[in-house]
Amino acid sequence: MYKLPDLPYQYNELAPYISEEQLKIHHQKHHQAYVIGANAVFEKLEKARKENSEIDMKAALKELSFHVSGYILHNLLWKNLAPAKEKMEPGGELKKKIEEDFSSFDRFKKELTQAATSVEGSGWAALVLDKESKRLLIMQIEKHNLNTYPSSKILLVLDVWEHAYYLDYKNDRAKFVESFWNIINWKEVERRLEE
Ligand code: FE
Repeated sequence: MYKLPDLPYQYNELAPYISEEQLKIHHQKHHQAYVIGANAVFEKLEKARKENSEIDMKAALKELSFHVSGYILHNLLWKNLAPAKEKMEPGGELKKKIEEDFSSFDRFKKELTQAATSVEGSGWAALVLDKESKRLLIMQIEKHNLNTYPSSKILLVLDVWEHAYYLDYKNDRAKFVESFWNIINWKEVERRLEE
């Protein structure tokens, strides 16, 4: 079950950049709403499993991703912020890496600013480390209910784009999904879980 984390600073410590009132409502109302929402879906799933009853998985997962993503992103956000009086600067390895991958800190700042100001609708901008290329990337999160949970570790994936099955199954995705269960490498799933 999720619970609302305490802020790592006082509500008034981000002022004048974020006021006490703004931070309070953001944390106590909006972040809290994701906690309540996620737990409600967990309970709904749990109940359906116990009763072995039908559930609208598409709707439940969409709702779950909205709350889980909102919850996780706000956790990151609070820890990403520091009291105004500390006036922190990037340093060490991080500074070096930013300068290497974005050519300069100013360039990085410009790109992140543009990503944040141009994101459509409600959204987020994020600095991420691409694990494959080991490069820093900027990511726009247009909606956080696109059915993904940021920072969740993927244990098992199923590719249901048509390109994965149309030669064998034509348009019969259900049949492909059924077949998929026969060829899963559960050792690898277990390895990723233990990693
Ligand atoms: Fe928010």
